[in-house]
Amino acid sequence: MSQKPLLSIPNATISRLVTYLRILTSLEQKGINRTSSDALAEEAQVSAFQVRKDLAYFGRFGTRGMGYTVLTLRRELQRILGLNRRWNCVIVGMGRLGQALADYPGYMESNLYEFELKGLFDIDPSKMGMQLRGLSVQHINDLEHCVRTHGVDMGFITVPVEKAQDAADALTKAGVRGILNFAPTALKVSDDIAVEQVDFMAGMKRLAFYILNPHLKALTDQEE
Ligand code: NAD
Repeated sequence: MSQKPLLSIPNATISRLVTYLRILTSLEQKGINRTSSDALAEEAQVSAFQVRKDLAYFGRFGTRGMGYTVLTLRRELQRILGLNRRWNCVIVGMGRLGQALADYPGYMESNLYEFELKGLFDIDPSKMGMQLRGLSVQHINDLEHCVRTHGVDMGFITVPVEKAQDAADALTKAGVRGILNFAPTALKVSDDIAVEQVDFMAGMKRLAFYILNPHLKALTDQEE
């Protein structure tokens, strides 16, 4: 399987790869061995051309006219996405959202990869020592030690918006390589830190717009 050098790849392509992986995993669980661009496209609600274009960024998969072997493509997508290993994570901000995320049972979706929580951090003295998922909430001053000891890769930011940059700076200084930011603000980080924004209020606002303008939804869903 030849792999092209990664140049510029649309963010939407990466999101769709995650969708294709979910579909392939489900096909595999149903005992289905082969699939096609058409079948993946239908399930992912995109065109078959889009499926082929998304996969082509990463190499050549499948056989013309024969489609794809589910197991092989699932493994390839897992490798491309880095989901064939463990990712160690911490949460910074153990308020309502931080506690809910710590409680979420779905970090390990398969026995091939997992997102494992290694530390929970806050600054509020009343939260220190609080137990969640077998972890004890620690002071943010202990973040760097935790990151280095456990080889933490990514941090989730769940602090109030005005504290989000402080949390990002602390995570960066501690040595994480990626941040999942739930605070509704753009973070300033160096180029070598990957940031993903999770903004559920923004989703609600987009939803309001698309409920009022349903004809525009189909256009914005078109291929990139
Ligand atoms: P919260 O006030 O319940 O919790 C915030 C926590 O962050 C507190 O425990 C606080 O002590 C801690 N904190 C403050 N500064 C800190 C710092 N520098 N380092 C470490 N910890 C620090 O807030 P919340 O409702 O959990 O929301 C957290 C963030 O997530 C906000 O930015 C919010 O906009 C966003 N958000 C929340 C929800 C939700 O449903 N609660 C949904 C989407 C997004």
